[in-house]
Amino acid sequence: MGRTVLILGGGTGGVVAGHVLAKVLPKTDRVALVDRSAVHLFRAGLPLVVTGRRRPEDISRSLDSLEKLGVQFIQAEVEEFIPENKAVRTDQGFLSYDSLIIALGAEQELSPGPSSVYNPYDLQGAQQLAQELAKFRQGEIVLFISGLPFPGAIAPYEIALLVDAYFRRRGLRRKIRITFVTPESRLLEFASPYYSKKLRGIMEKRGIRILTGRQVHSLAKGSSLVLSDGDLPGDLFIGIPRHRGPSPIRGSIIADPSGWLIVDPTPHTPVHQPARCLCHRRCRGHPLSGRNLHPQGRVLRPLPGGSSRPQPGVELCEQKAPLPLCGRGQRRLHACQLQAGLLCFGRCLCHAA
Ligand SMILES: Cc1cc2nc3c(=O)[nH]c(=O)nc-3n(C[C@H](O)[C@H](O)[C@H](O)COP(=O)(O)OP(=O)(O)OC[C@H]3O[C@@H](n4cnc5c(N)ncnc54)[C@H](O)[C@@H]3O)c2cc1C
Repeated sequence: MGRTVLILGGGTGGVVAGHVLAKVLPKTDRVALVDRSAVHLFRAGLPLVVTGRRRPEDISRSLDSLEKLGVQFIQAEVEEFIPENKAVRTDQGFLSYDSLIIALGAEQELSPGPSSVYNPYDLQGAQQLAQELAKFRQGEIVLFISGLPFPGAIAPYEIALLVDAYFRRRGLRRKIRITFVTPESRLLEFASPYYSKKLRGIMEKRGIRILTGRQVHSLAKGSSLVLSDGDLPGDLFIGIPRHRGPSPIRGSIIADPSGWLIVDPTPHTPVHQPARCLCHRRCRGHPLSGRNLHPQGRVLRPLPGGSSRPQPGVELCEQKAPLPLCGRGQRRLHACQLQAGLLCFGRCLCHAA
């Protein structure tokens, strides 16, 4: 009888894994993917929704379309991971598995704070921000990172540069001040100082004011951001939420005390057989980016039985990969598009600027 491989999460990691497994497993095996949402959201496209360069439908795909490949799609909320029974509890009942792939992404820590902060990290927030930017003609825009870690480590910078380019196109840039606030001690803290300096140069050339090493405490009366060293007034606030490990995993035996999955750095030795974990290993403090996830999805190839031949050149986030600050990065990322059948994956910051 065939085995069941259950994939939790229909984001980048889950979809790539589904594509690969559907191709390589015997037809007698069953591959099923569970997600709470009926659509896959290509998160790397959200910054382009903010500035009107993409519509929501350009960056979403129905997860039902995986059925064409032979991957069954189950729409359900994953509630609990029960490894001792090789089962998962969902709001639609229990699902059992022979092999499990966990790709539930990272969860936003939303403070019940003021609604006047726009969150470009979800589709609705990105759309609302796009509408607000279309009306905005002068004043101070403050983009802040509310806490570490957060995924899409370059996305906040990309959004700042796209917003700058957006107002230049509209001929309004000189009436608008853009301030970027981060708790990081330097820009792109997880990368080498070379990239910090290079990015600072790009942003300053564009007239974006940078405040590093600032903790954001709250937003006072919707008109000024309370920082560790004083208040920062503004007219439009864009906030990047802090993230944490997904709730079904937090507190389970495969999570560390801070709620993130413990993943062995070598792709072929998962911590908790037969569950494999994509996506939750933090890369120098950040959840993995999609571009690092892609090799992980591919390395799943030998997972359910068969020989587990190491794939040369495939490493997890230990690799000192070049950041997408150049065309070279872009070409590499293109492979994900082919693999997952998705849209363009990853862009170059220089391009945004
Ligand atoms: C604004 C932004 C821009 C980015 N830009 C880039 C970029 O340019 N290049 C790059 O490489 N990376 C980028 N990233 C990062 C990249 O999008 C993520 O690394 C990638 O999406 C992570 O994939 P994942 O499969 O782990 O999680 P996700 O893509 O977040 O998918 C997780 C899935 O699990 C589902 N899920 C979660 N919890 C449950 C539950 N309890 N029950 C059921 N379903 C659940 C969710 O609905 C979701 O579909 C960006 C991220 C953001 C937010």
